[in-house]
Parts: sequence; structure tokens; C-alpha cells
Amino acid sequence: MVFGWTQIIMDLQPLWVMVQGHGHIHGFTHTFLGACLIAVFSCLTGKYLSEIGLRVIGVSKAINPIRISWNIAMVSSCVGSVSHVVFDAMMHADVEPFFPIFMDNPLSGVLSVSSLHKLCLYSGLVGSGVFYAVQWRLKRNKMIYDKHND
Ligand SMILES: [Zn+2]
Repeated sequence: MVFGWTQIIMDLQPLWVMVQGHGHIHGFTHTFLGACLIAVFSCLTGKYLSEIGLRVIGVSKAINPIRISWNIAMVSSCVGSVSHVVFDAMMHADVEPFFPIFMDNPLSGVLSVSSLHKLCLYSGLVGSGVFYAVQWRLKRNKMIYDKHND
């Protein structure tokens, strides 16, 4: 949820430029410097918003609420913001990831858009597989633990 929140914050500036009809679409928010600042903001706000969101949708209960650790929130927001800059820099020539050091975009065109989409799809599938494998393993270990302690 913090990762997803970070993606929304990252693309507010491009949305604003599109609505206004002028400006640099992938401006400061799509630099590594901007991404670091957004990571801090997304971590600080996303942790609490996600915990509230989990309560609202009924996943987290008032008696034993789900708490998102600061480490998880920070890793999620950092990975979310930095990877956003890397992928957008590969996809959009106007991204200046290393602003203010230099304005070139050495990542532009490193991968074709088609290859980038495939990379995202396959990494999502691998990530889903790892997630469900870990869930299965944790559930199995808990069943073994419960069986020995009954
Ligand atoms: Zn973006």
C-alpha cells in the first residue's frame, strides 16, 4: 500500500502539468533527488494512511490492529520512488533523473517500451510467486508449530 501510495504521489506533478497544459511533464518529481524527498513524504504519510485504509476495508481489526513497521514503510517508499524514476527514465526521453548534476537521460531507450512492459509483467509474476510461496511456507510452519503445541 505504501508502494502504491508512492506511485500516486510521484505522478501528481505530471498530472498537474497535463491538466494545466504547460510545463515539464516529468520534472523534479522524476529525478533521483525528488524521488528521495517523495520517499520520505510517502513513508511518513503512507504508513498511517495504509493503517487507516486497512481498518476501513475491515482487514485490520480494532482489537488487534495491523501495524506497518517504519522499516517496511521506508523500504516500500524508497523502492517505489527510485524504481519509478528508473522505469520512467527508460520510457520517457524528457526525464532528467540526475538533475541537478547533469540534464541528460542516459536511461532513455535502454529498453524498448515493449521490453519494458514485458519486464514489468514478468517481474510482477515472479513477485507474486515469491509472495504466495512465502505465505504458503508461513502457513505450513504455523500448522506444524500448532500441531506440536496442542
Ligand atoms: Zn511517472
